[in-house]
Amino acid sequence: MRIVVPRETAPGERRVAMAPGSVKRLVSGGVAVAVETGAGLAASFTDEEYREAGAEIIADPGALFQAADFVGKINVPQVRDDGFDEIAAMPSGTLCVAMLQPYANSAALDRLAAQGVTSVALELIPRTTKAQRMDALSAFSTIAGYAGVIRGAEELGKFFPMLTTAAGTIAPARVFILGAGVAGLQAIATARRLGAVVEAFDIRPVVKEQVESLGAKFVEWNEADEGRETEGGYAEEVSESEAERERQLLSDHIAKSDLVITTALVPGRPAPRLITEDMVRRMRPGSVIVDFAAEAGGNCELTVAGETVRRHGVSIMGPLDLASSLPVPGSEMYGRILAALIEHASNEDGILEIDLNDPILDASVVTHGGKVRFEA
Ligand code: NAD
Repeated sequence: MRIVVPRETAPGERRVAMAPGSVKRLVSGGVAVAVETGAGLAASFTDEEYREAGAEIIADPGALFQAADFVGKINVPQVRDDGFDEIAAMPSGTLCVAMLQPYANSAALDRLAAQGVTSVALELIPRTTKAQRMDALSAFSTIAGYAGVIRGAEELGKFFPMLTTAAGTIAPARVFILGAGVAGLQAIATARRLGAVVEAFDIRPVVKEQVESLGAKFVEWNEADEGRETEGGYAEEVSESEAERERQLLSDHIAKSDLVITTALVPGRPAPRLITEDMVRRMRPGSVIVDFAAEAGGNCELTVAGETVRRHGVSIMGPLDLASSLPVPGSEMYGRILAALIEHASNEDGILEIDLNDPILDASVVTHGGKVRFEA
């Protein structure tokens, strides 16, 4: 089997699908790995390190893709600026694994299917214990949770910890995290490590214990109930009237916070509106909101995706690049995820075998046998 790791060519992308550590483990297991020249440079991994790990370095993308059994990418395969078409270059029968954005990218799925490529959208890997090792969304949300707090802290004109100085005692920052899923829990942990006083809220009461174990206070809602969690480990969407009651509950907590991080989302649904303009008006000037759900419409109604706007004295940040902002751990984690998927999808002889009766592959294989098998 030959695994191919191309350069990521999406604008601003610094990650690579596999770091040298994962290449080394795969090669020692008898798998051939080819890496495009310079693929890891933006993530600090040199061609030399890949070579030492046992990879072949190939400069010509045509030659690279031509011999692939498995293409590992982070972003959707695309036509590069120089006209090189990544999908057209994949041999029929290739397995391509990437963050394929299946909800937003039907054109790429159509092309992959027409090319005879079997493709896995890593976003669709279920959040089950067995699939944990292949869960790229969780890996990137962990990174985003950390990076979002650091960005918010930079924007906030305050210390996070309480400081006792010769010039008196400075009060700690108050941080409120909305949505205590993977990103939210990492945001709580990061804000606590920096010394802030942290509160958190989620409609799934099952996370209370995790929030408290990280040293944050869980805001209770008597309407929250255990049945809000689906089998896949995600939340059920709230109705508009429930959302209104939720906003009433959150309003006072938001008003007294210096930094609010919002990560509330139900996959495939528009982001729930948790913060209205009136609620922003009640915040102190200089406060900061980091809205992780900007891409899905925003948890705050004033969020502008990809920008930081100032309204009523409050900075509202809608970053889209949190997950990709730490390319070193991002590439290391992604490479391990690809290696785990390869192991999962290989038979006893180490040959890739797509068994659609397997629940993990059934959920995440979006093109197979010339057909798109994903329905939004
Ligand atoms: P997750 O599913 O683990 O967490 C989302 C949480 O929101 C869940 O705990 C869920 O119960 C909660 N939730 C849903 N509806 C809610 C509501 N009405 N009120 C309160 N809580 C509610 O998802 P995640 O992996 O932690 O990702 C969180 C968000 O961060 C997503 O929007 C994701 O797209 C985003 N994200 C953004 C970036 C970026 O660069 N901007 C990077 C990574 C993740």
